[in-house]
Amino acid sequence: MSTTIERLIKVLMFDVDGSIMPQGGPIHPAIAAFFRALSKLGLIMGPATGKNCDYGRGLACGIGVVWDFVAGESGARFIECVGKSGPPIYKQRVSQGASSDLSSFIKKIDYDLFGRGFSLRGQIEKFRPELKEGILTLFPPGRDLDVTLDWLSHFEDIIDTFGFQLKLQRFSDGCIDIVPEGISKQLGVQEVCRTYKCSPDQILVVVDGSNDIELTQGTLVIAVANAIPELKKIATAFEGYVSEKVDGAGFVEGILHFAESNKFDASINNKIKALCLATLKKLV
Ligand SMILES: [Mg+2]
Repeated sequence: MSTTIERLIKVLMFDVDGSIMPQGGPIHPAIAAFFRALSKLGLIMGPATGKNCDYGRGLACGIGVVWDFVAGESGARFIECVGKSGPPIYKQRVSQGASSDLSSFIKKIDYDLFGRGFSLRGQIEKFRPELKEGILTLFPPGRDLDVTLDWLSHFEDIIDTFGFQLKLQRFSDGCIDIVPEGISKQLGVQEVCRTYKCSPDQILVVVDGSNDIELTQGTLVIAVANAIPELKKIATAFEGYVSEKVDGAGFVEGILHFAESNKFDASINNKIKALCLATLKKLV
């Protein structure tokens, strides 16, 4: 006879844009206070974001916490906080990926970081960069978000022609990520398991977008109300939670659900529950 051991949540790992705050922010002051209180309770936590690790650290400074880790660049980079007393000290790890294809891709499009241009069928196309080390992100230079639709088909052609092991993702703000195959937020989950000696089912994730799908493999999922249908389906199928509220409020609603199911350590579970209820009142 097999017995299922119900494991408690050890780590909170959250997507940022659209999951704990509206796309592009700002974070609600009550959500910032919620994070500070969770941090005091000793819950291990950090973001799993498509943005770089410095963005994750900056977010923590604004909130007034120190994350235990940041899984940045959709899993391509991971920093672990190894000293919290005094200025935080971080150790960086580089995830594996087919980065040589990314270097080749950059050459093929005559990518010029400092000139902020690349070659599109013989013309120089302007872009806004986001500084990253393991993936490439290009934003539209102005207000016309549709300009990147043409970039997308051009990049697809190049990747097909040269057989590069790269995948493309285009987001609602027009930005395009060019990501080595093998890089995904799942690498962040693996780093968290290694670092904190836990299994994926002890990690609670908060998600909304298409680059979060790999973050849900084996983990406990909160899909906020504005999440894509695929994530809601995953949350429903694997004992996760789909919130009624959007982004930050949905995140707190999801934490409350897991506290009501006694999924946190008994020493903090009721405190988390009370904290969620108080925070939700401030969010109406
Ligand atoms: Mg998101």
